[in-house]
Amino acid sequence: MKAVQLVEIGQPLQAREVPAPSIGTRDVLVRIRAAGICHSDVHYRNGTSPVAGLPHTLGHEIAGVVEEIGPEVANVTIGKRVCLHYLVTCGECHYCRTGNEQFCVEGKMLGKHLDGGYAEFISVPARNAVPLADEVSFEHGAALMCSSSTSFHALRKGRLEPGETVAVFGAGGLGMSAIQLARAFGALQVLAVDIHPSRLELAERYGAVPVNASLEDPVTEIRRLTGGRGVDVAVEVIGLKKTMEQAVQSLAVLGRAVMVGIADEPFAIDSYGELLCKEAEVVGSSDHLLWELPLLVELVRQGKLDLSQVITRTVPLDAGAINRAMDSLQKFGDGVRTVITP
Ligand SMILES: [Zn+2]
Ligand SMILES: [Zn+2]
Repeated sequence: MKAVQLVEIGQPLQAREVPAPSIGTRDVLVRIRAAGICHSDVHYRNGTSPVAGLPHTLGHEIAGVVEEIGPEVANVTIGKRVCLHYLVTCGECHYCRTGNEQFCVEGKMLGKHLDGGYAEFISVPARNAVPLADEVSFEHGAALMCSSSTSFHALRKGRLEPGETVAVFGAGGLGMSAIQLARAFGALQVLAVDIHPSRLELAERYGAVPVNASLEDPVTEIRRLTGGRGVDVAVEVIGLKKTMEQAVQSLAVLGRAVMVGIADEPFAIDSYGELLCKEAEVVGSSDHLLWELPLLVELVRQGKLDLSQVITRTVPLDAGAINRAMDSLQKFGDGVRTVITP
């Protein structure tokens, strides 16, 4: 089969002919119909974040059709549309058994530790295949597997309750899902903080109140918009020291700041003024859980989560086109999302 692989760190991906994967008794073979190009894939190509070995097929945001199933597979049948949970876990360790499988001691990620979706076929354990409703496109199914599910998990970690207020720091792919999901979960008011007018405009279309951090201090503005209280939940998806600090500073009494963005330096908190006095919390959020994914598919099917404005481009399974999409992701961040449709 055809695969576009990382052969050498720091070099463009290459189109290669590789053997189609074989399946074990509990695996499914999936014909890939959509594979998202994620910002982490750029880190793998750069070498900023390591992959298991070279050559390696990248891609962890995958949707497709079941082509073949192992003899012990009961949860899916041949011909079913599916999207794939990217974390392959043991199901047996302490973390798997307590429902926190993202910490599985043997956890392996598609496209990082295992070959991923920049190919025609992939083999995965059948339990990683999540049914994809007919109304949801393969492209959207693929995108749900990473950015949307990260946002979903983050809002759950923030224990958002109906009637509360939310501030989302960063209105890119992750943020746009966070805004819509916060509203679907019953948030009374969602504030979107960014510096790009086009992103803020889109955030506003999805029902958020835009806060342009290049024109005004977002903390002051959030206080003003919430009658001086601050927000109950702040979600930071950018990964900057400054915006992480602003997220904490924007909290109301008993507020929760959820950290999703990956920063390369520590951030500072006034522990007395910002945490103790408010009984505020800073919460880390990592990846997502398998059981959260069917709920996301259903939210898209019901029209409560719209990804049509987030995915802006599709490319074929072509090394040149994929490298160009990665180059632009590297330069401009996640404003434009590209999905490979083999
Ligand atoms: Zn991703
Ligand atoms: Zn495990």
